[in-house]
Amino acid sequence: MNLNNARFETTAVKPEQYPQSNLPEIAFAGRSNVGKSSMINFLLNRKNLAYVGATPGKTREINFFNIDDKLYFVDLPGYGYAKVPKEKSLSWDETINTYLNVRAQLKLIIMLVDIRHTPTKDDILMHEWLAGGNRPYIVAAAKSDKVTRSQIKQRLAEIRQVLKIPDNIPVIPFSSENKLGKEELWRAINSVLEMQA
Ligand code: GDP
Repeated sequence: MNLNNARFETTAVKPEQYPQSNLPEIAFAGRSNVGKSSMINFLLNRKNLAYVGATPGKTREINFFNIDDKLYFVDLPGYGYAKVPKEKSLSWDETINTYLNVRAQLKLIIMLVDIRHTPTKDDILMHEWLAGGNRPYIVAAAKSDKVTRSQIKQRLAEIRQVLKIPDNIPVIPFSSENKLGKEELWRAINSVLEMQA
């Protein structure tokens, strides 16, 4: 797979706007501003393929990135930004829910949480959905450069406990800033791609 051949393909809200393709998809879910766009750029060694912005709640649509015509990275709208009007945040949730429920070629969900914070109610709801469903998922603890090495273990344990993450689900610390966790994330992605080959 040639990671240099990664490109933004399309934006969608409704299923009829999703790419007409059967390529496997890896989706990124998390609260607004948790670092999803940065993670996508980090995994692809790009600076600004996915838009990193200072305004939380900026992305209301699903963004599809085509990776060398082999798979898609799917950047889901950020959830749980308190300052958006209620109707809007609901419609984002509907966009996320619909995608997660209908998209057959979705192979893995990477749920991002911020390593510094106790998971929020939205994180708990998101994880309950994942744990209750049959889609493979992993959890990634973003912004690990913001805590000390010795705090990482403790923060991961708290995240696991609050979200009630089963033991067989990895929680991977990563940092787009410090280039931490990339190999482990790619291993998780490649393992679901190989499984379906
Ligand atoms: P998104 O809304 O989830 O797509 O989040 P973004 O990728 O746009 O990032 C939100 C903010 O967090 C930006 O200001 C980023 O520069 C910052 N950020 C993202 N990842 C990291 C990280 O690993 N470490 C640190 N320190 N900051 C990060």
